Order: sequence, then structure tokens, then C-alpha cells
Amino acid sequence: MSKRILIIMAMAAEARPIIDQLRLQALPANPQLQSPFPRFQGEFAGNAIMISLNGTSSEYGVDRIGTEFAALNTQSAIVEFAPDLIINAGTCGAFSTDADIAEIITSDQPVVYHDHRVPLAGFDRFAMGAYPTAYCPEYFQGIGHKLGVVTTGNSLDMPEIDRQWVRQNHGMAKEMECAAVAAAAHLYGIDFLPIKSVTDHIDIELNNVEQFLNNLNKASQKLGETLIRVLANIR
Ligand code: SAH
Repeated sequence: MSKRILIIMAMAAEARPIIDQLRLQALPANPQLQSPFPRFQGEFAGNAIMISLNGTSSEYGVDRIGTEFAALNTQSAIVEFAPDLIINAGTCGAFSTDADIAEIITSDQPVVYHDHRVPLAGFDRFAMGAYPTAYCPEYFQGIGHKLGVVTTGNSLDMPEIDRQWVRQNHGMAKEMECAAVAAAAHLYGIDFLPIKSVTDHIDIELNNVEQFLNNLNKASQKLGETLIRVLANIR
């Protein structure tokens, strides 16, 4: 067994194709956790794999997207599974000039937040964050992908101030979990890699919600295929 790989995903719909194809087994809920995170485990290409989902909100009946549950999910999965590598796989928005729908974006640059604005000395940099990624070209050998900055916030829309921050940070993938997962990985000194598939263009008229819903299946399929090919390249 060469590596223990933890894959953190926010939405069940994004994860289903991968869980099925890797034939991962659902784990029993950890009784120590309140409203546990659905976890699936197995082996693939000589590596031990765990997929851990953010889970469903008991109050609202939807996936617990966003940073809070991504961070709780990641820390508890680290404690349970002791991974060597953490991948945050999911969907994202992107500028239409940077990437097409369903294209894969990963990163060799730190992950940042685009909606943590604290203009106080020291706190400004802490709030924005800069959480390292561990990109290896060998993992993506023969696999189409773009390299750019992944930028995280807790909204699906993009008000002008967020757009400015995304632009200033040269953000390519705009999404809602990555910096939180990367921060938890960094806390424990574990290698971190984002893999995102584009569901929507953040610079065109049709609103993000409509685009997201239209493209979620296509992007999730592409995400699943890519993730499996990347996992096969990891030794
Ligand atoms: N309305 C959807 C929920 C989409 S929320 C539904 O009902 O199924 C967006 C999720 O996809 C988050 O987990 C986020 O990481 C990702 N995402 C995709 N496109 C995004 C964008 N343009 N901005 C922010 N997050 C995005």
C-alpha cells in the first residue's frame, strides 16, 4: 500500500460517480461525531482511499456546502484515517476566457479566500490565507488540466468586491470549500491537492445557479473520470 489518500467532497451528486466506480464501501457512522460525515473506503491502484462527504443538513435537507462543514469534515477524517495526501474534489466557477465547462483545474499555488476582508495589520493576511498545494506533474501525466489559483468564499454569486478580489489574486477556480480543506491539511502538515471541474462561467449573463444546475452532471462525470486517472498515477 503506497499512500493513504483522503478525498473531501461537499456534494453527494459530485461524489456518486466516483464512489460507484471505485466500489468504495460505506463506513458505519462514527458515534463520537454529531451528524457524522458520510465516509466510503476502499483500495485503488495500490493506494488506500477514503472519500468523506460534508453530509446533508438535517434542518434544510441539502448538502452542507461551504467552509464550516468542509473544515469539520476534514479534521475529523484526518483523525480517523491518518492520510498522507488530501484531495479536495468538486466543482467550481471560472472565467470563460480561462476554462470551458467541465474542464479540470488544479493548482501549484496557494489557495486563498476572496471574501475574508479584514483591513487590520496582520489580520488581513491571516484572513485571506495562503494554504499550500502539493501539485506533482506526474499525477496528471496525459490528463487534460489547467493550473491556476483556487479561490474560496461562502457565496455562489459574485458581487463586484468579490470579483475584484478574485481578479487581484489571479483566481482561476472560484468555489466554496477548498481553502478550508487546505487550511486543515496545512495544520496537520499533510500534502494537499485541489481537483475542480467547471460548472459555470462567472462572467456571462446567464446566472450561476441556472448554469450550475445545467452543467452539474457533465462536470461531475468529468471530475470522476479525472480523479480516477489521477489516483492511478499516485504511488
Ligand atoms: N444550487 C446547487 C448548489 C450549488 S452550491 C444545488 O442545489 O445543487 C455550489 C457548490 O459548487 C459549492 O460546493 C462550490 O464549491 C461549487 N461551486 C460551483 N460553482 C461555483 C461558483 N461559481 N461559485 C462558488 N462555488 C461554486
